[in-house]
Amino acid sequence: MIRHHLTDSLLMAYSAGQLPEAHNLAVATHVSLCDECRARMESFDTLGGAVIDSVEGVGLSDDSLAATLARIRDAAPPAQRAPRKRGVFPGPLQDYVGGDLDAVRWRSIGGGVQQAILPTTKQASARLLRIPGGTAVPDHGHRGLELTLVLQGAFSDEDGHFGRGDIEIADQQVNHTPTAEPGEDCICLAVTDAPLRFNSLIPRLLQPFVRI
Ligand code: ZN
Ligand code: ZN
Repeated sequence: MIRHHLTDSLLMAYSAGQLPEAHNLAVATHVSLCDECRARMESFDTLGGAVIDSVEGVGLSDDSLAATLARIRDAAPPAQRAPRKRGVFPGPLQDYVGGDLDAVRWRSIGGGVQQAILPTTKQASARLLRIPGGTAVPDHGHRGLELTLVLQGAFSDEDGHFGRGDIEIADQQVNHTPTAEPGEDCICLAVTDAPLRFNSLIPRLLQPFVRI
Protein backbone atom coordinates (compact mmCIF):
# COMPACT_ATOMS: atom_id res chain seq x y z
CA MET A 1 0.00 0.00 0.00
CA ILE A 2 1.40 3.38 -1.06
CA ARG A 3 1.49 6.04 1.67
CA HIS A 4 3.73 8.73 0.22
CA HIS A 5 2.41 10.43 -2.90
CA LEU A 6 3.16 13.16 -5.44
CA THR A 7 2.17 16.74 -4.68
CA ASP A 8 -0.48 18.56 -6.69
CA SER A 9 2.22 20.92 -7.99
CA LEU A 10 4.22 18.06 -9.46
CA LEU A 11 1.15 16.42 -11.00
CA MET A 12 0.01 19.74 -12.53
CA ALA A 13 3.46 20.49 -13.85
CA TYR A 14 3.70 17.01 -15.38
CA SER A 15 0.26 17.37 -16.91
CA ALA A 16 1.25 20.74 -18.39
CA GLY A 17 4.43 19.25 -19.89
CA GLN A 18 6.62 21.60 -17.86
CA LEU A 19 8.88 19.24 -15.95
CA PRO A 20 12.43 18.24 -16.85
CA GLU A 21 12.69 14.78 -18.37
CA ALA A 22 14.13 13.24 -15.18
CA HIS A 23 11.14 14.46 -13.13
CA ASN A 24 8.76 13.21 -15.81
CA LEU A 25 10.28 9.79 -15.42
CA ALA A 26 9.77 9.76 -11.63
CA VAL A 27 6.21 11.07 -11.91
CA ALA A 28 5.25 8.61 -14.67
CA THR A 29 6.79 5.71 -12.75
CA HIS A 30 4.96 6.58 -9.52
CA VAL A 31 1.66 7.11 -11.36
CA SER A 32 2.03 3.72 -13.05
CA LEU A 33 2.06 2.16 -9.57
CA CYS A 34 -0.47 4.44 -7.85
CA ASP A 35 -4.21 4.56 -8.61
CA GLU A 36 -4.71 7.59 -6.36
CA CYS A 37 -2.19 9.81 -8.16
CA ARG A 38 -3.36 8.54 -11.56
CA ALA A 39 -6.89 9.73 -10.74
CA ARG A 40 -5.61 13.13 -9.59
CA MET A 41 -3.49 13.45 -12.72
CA GLU A 42 -6.48 12.73 -14.95
CA SER A 43 -8.34 15.61 -13.31
CA PHE A 44 -5.38 17.93 -14.00
CA ASP A 45 -5.22 16.70 -17.59
CA THR A 46 -8.84 17.81 -17.98
CA LEU A 47 -8.05 21.15 -16.39
CA GLY A 48 -5.02 21.60 -18.67
CA GLY A 49 -7.17 20.88 -21.71
CA ALA A 50 -9.56 23.63 -20.62
CA VAL A 51 -6.64 26.08 -20.38
CA ILE A 52 -5.48 25.22 -23.90
CA ASP A 53 -9.02 25.64 -25.26
CA SER A 54 -9.28 29.11 -23.73
CA VAL A 55 -5.83 30.09 -25.05
CA GLU A 56 -6.81 29.06 -28.58
CA GLY A 57 -9.79 31.38 -28.36
CA VAL A 58 -7.52 34.42 -28.14
CA GLY A 59 -5.00 33.20 -30.72
CA LEU A 60 -1.68 31.49 -30.32
CA SER A 61 1.63 33.28 -30.42
CA ASP A 62 3.81 32.79 -33.50
CA ASP A 63 6.26 30.54 -31.73
CA SER A 64 3.70 28.29 -30.07
CA LEU A 65 3.87 25.62 -32.77
CA ALA A 66 7.66 25.47 -32.52
CA ALA A 67 7.43 25.36 -28.74
CA THR A 68 4.88 22.55 -28.87
CA LEU A 69 6.97 20.56 -31.32
CA ALA A 70 10.04 21.07 -29.16
CA ARG A 71 8.11 19.82 -26.17
CA ILE A 72 6.99 16.71 -28.05
CA ARG A 73 10.56 16.12 -29.22
CA ASP A 74 11.93 16.51 -25.69
CA ALA A 75 9.38 14.06 -24.38
CA ALA A 76 10.07 11.47 -27.08
CA PRO A 77 10.98 8.07 -25.69
CA PRO A 78 14.35 6.49 -26.50
CA ALA A 79 14.46 5.04 -30.01
CA GLN A 80 15.29 1.52 -28.92
CA ARG A 81 12.78 -0.09 -26.64
CA ALA A 82 13.15 -3.53 -25.19
CA PRO A 83 9.91 -5.46 -24.82
CA ARG A 84 8.47 -4.95 -21.35
CA LYS A 85 8.16 -7.79 -18.92
CA ARG A 86 6.84 -7.89 -15.41
CA GLY A 87 9.59 -7.18 -12.98
CA VAL A 88 10.96 -4.73 -10.44
CA PHE A 89 10.72 -1.79 -12.83
CA PRO A 90 7.33 -0.43 -13.94
CA GLY A 91 6.86 0.14 -17.69
CA PRO A 92 8.04 3.79 -17.92
CA LEU A 93 11.30 2.88 -16.21
CA GLN A 94 11.87 -0.26 -18.28
CA ASP A 95 11.67 1.96 -21.36
CA TYR A 96 14.54 4.10 -20.04
CA VAL A 97 16.70 1.27 -18.80
CA GLY A 98 16.06 -0.93 -21.82
CA GLY A 99 14.84 -3.77 -19.64
CA ASP A 100 14.45 -4.74 -16.02
CA LEU A 101 17.01 -5.06 -13.19
CA ASP A 102 19.27 -7.40 -15.16
CA ALA A 103 19.78 -4.69 -17.81
CA VAL A 104 21.25 -2.19 -15.30
CA ARG A 105 25.00 -1.54 -15.33
CA TRP A 106 25.69 -0.74 -11.70
CA ARG A 107 28.74 1.18 -10.54
CA SER A 108 29.95 1.19 -6.95
CA ILE A 109 29.92 4.58 -5.20
CA GLY A 110 31.28 3.34 -1.85
CA GLY A 111 29.80 1.96 1.34
CA GLY A 112 28.29 -0.95 -0.58
CA VAL A 113 25.97 1.46 -2.44
CA GLN A 114 25.74 1.19 -6.22
CA GLN A 115 24.25 3.55 -8.75
CA ALA A 116 23.37 3.73 -12.43
CA ILE A 117 22.81 7.14 -14.02
CA LEU A 118 19.99 7.19 -16.56
CA PRO A 119 20.12 9.26 -19.76
CA THR A 120 17.96 12.37 -19.49
CA THR A 121 18.18 16.01 -20.52
CA LYS A 122 20.65 18.08 -18.48
CA GLN A 123 18.04 20.12 -16.57
CA ALA A 124 17.92 17.39 -13.93
CA SER A 125 19.46 14.00 -13.35
CA ALA A 126 17.95 10.57 -12.71
CA ARG A 127 19.75 7.63 -11.20
CA LEU A 128 19.01 4.21 -9.82
CA LEU A 129 20.42 3.51 -6.37
CA ARG A 130 20.94 0.08 -4.90
CA ILE A 131 21.46 0.13 -1.13
CA PRO A 132 22.20 -3.11 0.75
CA GLY A 133 19.69 -3.99 3.49
CA GLY A 134 20.57 -2.33 6.81
CA THR A 135 22.87 0.26 5.19
CA ALA A 136 22.49 4.00 5.84
CA VAL A 137 23.02 6.62 3.15
CA PRO A 138 25.10 9.46 4.66
CA ASP A 139 23.04 12.25 6.20
CA HIS A 140 22.55 15.03 3.69
CA GLY A 141 20.66 18.16 2.83
CA HIS A 142 19.46 19.25 -0.57
CA ARG A 143 20.37 22.16 -2.77
CA GLY A 144 17.33 21.58 -4.95
CA LEU A 145 14.50 19.10 -5.09
CA GLU A 146 15.09 15.40 -4.62
CA LEU A 147 12.48 12.80 -5.55
CA THR A 148 13.15 9.27 -4.33
CA LEU A 149 10.85 6.50 -5.51
CA VAL A 150 11.20 3.04 -3.97
CA LEU A 151 11.12 0.14 -6.44
CA GLN A 152 12.25 -2.74 -4.24
CA GLY A 153 12.80 -3.18 -0.51
CA ALA A 154 12.23 -0.21 1.79
CA PHE A 155 13.99 2.59 3.64
CA SER A 156 13.22 4.75 6.65
CA ASP A 157 14.32 8.24 7.56
CA GLU A 158 13.20 11.18 9.69
CA ASP A 159 10.10 11.50 7.46
CA GLY A 160 8.82 7.96 7.81
CA HIS A 161 8.85 4.54 6.22
CA PHE A 162 9.02 4.20 2.43
CA GLY A 163 8.18 0.94 0.64
CA ARG A 164 7.61 0.00 -3.00
CA GLY A 165 5.78 2.77 -4.85
CA ASP A 166 6.30 5.38 -2.11
CA ILE A 167 7.92 8.64 -3.21
CA GLU A 168 9.82 10.97 -0.90
CA ILE A 169 9.94 14.63 -1.87
CA ALA A 170 12.86 16.37 -0.15
CA ASP A 171 13.83 20.01 -0.60
CA GLN A 172 16.20 22.56 0.92
CA GLN A 173 14.43 22.32 4.28
CA VAL A 174 14.98 18.58 4.60
CA ASN A 175 18.00 16.92 6.15
CA HIS A 176 17.77 13.19 6.36
CA THR A 177 19.60 9.90 6.80
CA PRO A 178 17.78 7.29 4.73
CA THR A 179 18.49 3.76 5.99
CA ALA A 180 17.60 0.65 4.00
CA GLU A 181 15.58 -1.82 6.01
CA PRO A 182 17.25 -5.15 6.80
CA GLY A 183 16.63 -7.79 4.16
CA GLU A 184 16.71 -7.40 0.40
CA ASP A 185 18.57 -4.54 -1.27
CA CYS A 186 16.62 -1.30 -1.44
CA ILE A 187 16.43 -0.11 -5.04
CA CYS A 188 15.26 3.45 -5.69
CA LEU A 189 14.90 5.88 -8.55
CA ALA A 190 16.37 9.20 -7.38
CA VAL A 191 15.90 12.46 -9.28
CA THR A 192 17.69 15.69 -8.44
CA ASP A 193 17.82 19.05 -10.14
CA ALA A 194 20.02 22.11 -10.11
CA PRO A 195 19.03 24.36 -7.22
CA LEU A 196 18.27 27.58 -9.08
CA ARG A 197 16.37 25.76 -11.73
CA PHE A 198 13.72 24.45 -9.38
CA ASN A 199 13.42 27.56 -7.25
CA SER A 200 11.98 29.40 -10.20
CA LEU A 201 10.22 26.44 -11.75
CA ILE A 202 7.22 25.82 -9.50
CA PRO A 203 5.80 29.36 -9.49
CA ARG A 204 6.21 29.50 -13.26
CA LEU A 205 4.52 26.14 -13.71
CA LEU A 206 1.52 27.03 -11.65
CA GLN A 207 0.94 30.34 -13.37
CA PRO A 208 -1.41 29.10 -16.12
CA PHE A 209 -3.49 27.21 -13.60
CA VAL A 210 -3.70 29.94 -11.00
CA ARG A 211 -5.11 32.28 -13.63
CA ILE A 212 -8.24 30.18 -14.01
ZN1 ZN B 1 0.49 8.33 -5.43
ZN1 ZN C 1 18.03 13.10 0.22
